[in-house]
Amino acid sequence: MAKKLIIGNWKLNPLTIDAAKTLAAAIDQSPMQEAVLCPPMAFLAAIHYPKLGAQDCFWKVKGAYTGQTSPAQLKSMLVRYCIIGHSERRELGESNEIIQAKVAALLEGGIVPVLCIGHGTTRQEDELAVVDVLKDQLNSGLAGIDPSKVVVAYEPVWAIGQGRPATPEHAEKIALYVKTKYNVARVLYGGSTNSTNAAAFLQQPHLDGLLVGGASLLPDDFNKIINLTF
Ligand code: PEP
Repeated sequence: MAKKLIIGNWKLNPLTIDAAKTLAAAIDQSPMQEAVLCPPMAFLAAIHYPKLGAQDCFWKVKGAYTGQTSPAQLKSMLVRYCIIGHSERRELGESNEIIQAKVAALLEGGIVPVLCIGHGTTRQEDELAVVDVLKDQLNSGLAGIDPSKVVVAYEPVWAIGQGRPATPEHAEKIALYVKTKYNVARVLYGGSTNSTNAAAFLQQPHLDGLLVGGASLLPDDFNKIINLTF
């Protein structure tokens, strides 16, 4: 069976370079599954781990853009994946058009975009309404893009950081929909996963991995997730 892709999104944690190095050093270097660490941008160059990801990037490769990070700069730091369109960035005003431009820039730079899609701030049980929002995010985010080069992470907004995940069956339904309709490379689930519930998601046939927030900051928990076997 293909390895599952487990991406740890550290968000704005930890606050010091020493703590970041300590955290990275506590994560298994040769786990059973494919593990990727996404530290804060400021620490990326100092973190040594076989597979690194970034949490965001700019949509231009070069030019006068104060404070931005180019996909080319990420590539030169051996970054392989980049999270794009996380709901916490959409919340800050990032539009579907900006997200599409970032996906395009990353592919041009040879980095795999991890395009986050999700809906709602409260639990939404109506799957038709859910799919309408996702469709819009996918149609815009993948416009003019070869979808087979993109990883999609389905993250219901109401499940992120809440200790209240979606059901594995719901995530599987969405993953099947996204794969069938959009032909993307892989589909991940994200939202309150941990070492207790991860296996139930990873056993779903169309879920290729997880985007993990809080639990990626807990080495014992994250090591258990990346060493699950099926
Ligand atoms: C995330 O931020 O992408 C995420 C899934 O967070 P958590 O695992 O903490 O819900």
